[in-house]
Amino acid sequence: MADRPAPCYTAPVAAPVRRRRACRPVRGRLLAVKGTAMARRRQLYEGKAKILFEGPEPGTLVQYFKDDATAFNAQKKGVITGKGVLNNRISEYLMMRLAEIGIPTHFVRRLNMREQLIREVEIIPLEVVVRNIAAGSLSSRLGIPEGTRLPRSIIEYCYKNDALGDPLVSEEHVTCFGWANTQDLDDIVALTLRINDFLTGLFLGVGITLVDFKLEFGRLWENDEMRIVLADEISPDNCRLWDSKTNEKMDKDRFRRDLGKVEEAYQEVAKRLGILPEAGTRDMKGPETMQ
Ligand code: UDP
Repeated sequence: MADRPAPCYTAPVAAPVRRRRACRPVRGRLLAVKGTAMARRRQLYEGKAKILFEGPEPGTLVQYFKDDATAFNAQKKGVITGKGVLNNRISEYLMMRLAEIGIPTHFVRRLNMREQLIREVEIIPLEVVVRNIAAGSLSSRLGIPEGTRLPRSIIEYCYKNDALGDPLVSEEHVTCFGWANTQDLDDIVALTLRINDFLTGLFLGVGITLVDFKLEFGRLWENDEMRIVLADEISPDNCRLWDSKTNEKMDKDRFRRDLGKVEEAYQEVAKRLGILPEAGTRDMKGPETMQ
């Protein structure tokens, strides 16, 4: 612990003692809290919408939410101003509500407007998609008109592999190639169905229909025991959310399909969930980040 920099990004309080690592500078970023304290954190991974940094304690990571948006396997790229702030907040809220009903998640706490502290897990390389209403690739693949309510919720698996375009796979592929075993899949299905029921009701309560969404799970090791926990994020980036009355889209499809008012849609979701400050994202800048 002696050479670990003080975790001064956890709270913008009195300037903590500043210490530098003895080793050569590593790739990271500088975080200024109220323009005073600075810490350098090691970047572990950069994805399309998030960056993972080394956490303050072993077994933890810091998940940073970017404004970058991609669609169609990163062929379409853009920036949705304020998205990172909103997704950080929305995902925090939903993960906390899910934890209240006993769903284990990687979420520990939100650190600031763009970052949250999470448990380090071994990500299972699957995108677990739940569908309640036909839309997106289900509609185009099977010719089922968008908006058709499905007789029952469907779970699909895609293999997380950008180079292959995250192909749809069956349970047979998942177990055959060892991405997860049957016990893991039993746990994933049980958790996914509970999450779907809970979130469907939660969103319906604020006038939003949960059409479909994507989850990711990870293995959390505690001593010799392993638990499957919900990981990644839950936000309008990976859910289809329609206004219950008008069916207006309130999610990333506004970006994918150039429908405009993307920021407004994400803000409206946060507002309906009761987690948007009065002044909107202008109030939610948090610490200033310098690359
Ligand atoms: N989804 C996601 N990441 C992906 C692919 C899909 O978060 O890489 C989400 C998407 O936002 C939607 C659901 O999973 O809520 C189902 O997406 P679909 O298979 O219809 O693919 P898409 O139409 O998004 O390409």
